[in-house]
Amino acid sequence: MIRIESHGVYTYKPFNKAKRTEAPVKIDWRNYPNFKEEEFKCTASGLCNMEPKFLEAMQYLRQQFARPLKISSGYRDPTTHPVEIKKVVPGVHSWGIAADILVSHKLAYDLLSMALTLKIFTGIGIKQNGHPTGRFIHLDIATQENYGDFFKKEIIRPTVWSY
Ligand SMILES: [Zn+2]
Repeated sequence: MIRIESHGVYTYKPFNKAKRTEAPVKIDWRNYPNFKEEEFKCTASGLCNMEPKFLEAMQYLRQQFARPLKISSGYRDPTTHPVEIKKVVPGVHSWGIAADILVSHKLAYDLLSMALTLKIFTGIGIKQNGHPTGRFIHLDIATQENYGDFFKKEIIRPTVWSY
């Protein structure tokens, strides 16, 4: 069963340890004109179970930022993605509420500044060491409320971290 895109408040049902319990939402990509499904697909499985709420946040960020945002990681299938498969609890990418954006130097500075100003992203991860083409900023909209009881203990939001 596919949930209908609502643009309303979204919640997750109690966490059943390793899997997102709700069926993926059918995304209407016309609502996010600066992004394509291909950009958010899991690189391992090709699935794209993104949450509309997160894509709305990304579209808003894109409009405010007024510059292209290059996504290096969006949805990660918890059963096949090499990063997620190792985790006991799938991370926020597996919940369709996170993306990594390829930025460095001034673009990274400007994007971070914008993300902090907008206050719609609750998790900000900063990877700005290593080769410039591998540098990114992770953004997510996780909260303790939009996760089930099991995950609640694992998550601290709002927060920032470095890689
Ligand atoms: Zn990430």
